[in-house]
Amino acid sequence: MSHELRTPLTLLLGPIAYALNDTGLSRQSKKLLEAARRNSLHLQQLVNEILDISKLRATGLDLQEQPTVLFDFLEETLSAFQALAESRSILLQLEYLPDPAWTLALDRQKLLKILGNLLSNALKYAPNDSTVALQVEKQAGDAMFRVQDEGPGIHPDDLPYIFDLYYQSKRPENKAEGGTGIGLALARELVQAMGGSLWAESKPGKGSVFFLRLPAQERSSEHAERIARGSRPAGVFYSPVEPPTAPEPAISAPVARLLVVEDNTDLQTFLRAILPSEYHLTVVDNGRAALEYLSGAERLPDLILTDVMMPEMDGFQLLEALRQSEAWRPIPVILLTALAGADDRLRAFRIGVDDYITKPFSAEELTVRIENALRNLAARREWMETEPAEPEETAENIDIWLQQLRETARLNLGNPQFNVNDLAERMGISRRTLYRQIRLRAGLSANQIIQELRLLQARELIETGQYRNLRLVAEAVGLRSANYLSRLYRERFGKSPADDL
Ligand code: ADP
Repeated sequence: MSHELRTPLTLLLGPIAYALNDTGLSRQSKKLLEAARRNSLHLQQLVNEILDISKLRATGLDLQEQPTVLFDFLEETLSAFQALAESRSILLQLEYLPDPAWTLALDRQKLLKILGNLLSNALKYAPNDSTVALQVEKQAGDAMFRVQDEGPGIHPDDLPYIFDLYYQSKRPENKAEGGTGIGLALARELVQAMGGSLWAESKPGKGSVFFLRLPAQERSSEHAERIARGSRPAGVFYSPVEPPTAPEPAISAPVARLLVVEDNTDLQTFLRAILPSEYHLTVVDNGRAALEYLSGAERLPDLILTDVMMPEMDGFQLLEALRQSEAWRPIPVILLTALAGADDRLRAFRIGVDDYITKPFSAEELTVRIENALRNLAARREWMETEPAEPEETAENIDIWLQQLRETARLNLGNPQFNVNDLAERMGISRRTLYRQIRLRAGLSANQIIQELRLLQARELIETGQYRNLRLVAEAVGLRSANYLSRLYRERFGKSPADDL
């Protein structure tokens, strides 16, 4: 399901961002495209909500709690709605009674989803020039939140049902344009899973009040990570797809040949549009067609970019077939996939050689990944010329060896001092052998390999949802700080790690 939804989203967001980047646009076209982009982002948000609900129901809730100064968190949350409120002269008010340093263990992202839903409903129904208030109180062992508006209120016929999935009022005064009846259902499921409760009271004509009660697990404020002012709270707004960066024209490098394996014709068109024009592209429809093309090709491609879900032969089957062949095996493969974290097969990818990109992806992301793979390939080829492989170095042995390397490193990456010497020692081989193998097989230098391993591990931790906090991810993979991780991540993967958290 997720694939069916994310592919068309990629095809909306990607091409729109691309088109918006065109400097020759008329003002009218620009405005229309911006509206299309806003709506696609909205659609993406809805899709994410539906997926959230199905996931919650299928696997239950996995809470990621962190000590949080509640007051700071709420100020940050409200600031995301400020512009909308101001545009309709609505006073958005925080009435906070507890001690401002009150610190709780909270799953910020989930609380943000809950409060975000309540606040956006309140703002949706509030008349211009009115007040929307968020009140917070400490009550016994609970945190009590109230979101109050001066809108039309909720009819008694509707009130018992508003938390049902897909429920929408039939009453004309409560009809909201573009409503789906998902928001409150998701909010309530999240609240219940967090051990709290959510309910509403309303006097028609006098506005509505939504009550949220959550058990308060107090923490010492010392350990609370301050919430950076002005940072975008994850989950409310989705970051727009980055406009593609203009690729550096390659001056003397030979034209790289890419084989694109993709059944969706729209996605084919999008890829043709965003891939730098100096690549020589061949596009085929599925894995089987790719193998036929390779069998007859005069020159093999330098890189294969393939979707996973395709008729006849999917991306993984294609990869399997490529690895059976000595000639095709060295070709780097990048997979386009809808689901990353869940798939173990992706984690077994050859370091420095194979990669995957999750949909929806941006032009920048794709370009950065391809360039990275081609750079490693060039380095491998160069080494191959100077240092031909030894007889026992069959491609298969080397793949197994690289996998062992990764497993060995994985256990030690949390140590920031961990280096290539330690790695060689743990692998039971000489440093020289290690350097040589890494160059030959992954196209990476000794220093690059440790960094690459740290970044791959960081991506895995983020994608599998094990961490919601960049600083902790950085720590777990032995990098100095969240900022440093962000910078390296962006250079390597073409996007900010915050987009995946
Ligand atoms: P949506 O707003 O997308 O339809 P929700 O689950 O957020 O879905 O809300 C369900 C219904 O509850 C809305 O259609 C509306 O009738 C009612 N509702 C929610 N919040 C308010 C509010 N603040 N004032 C009046 N009606 C509300």
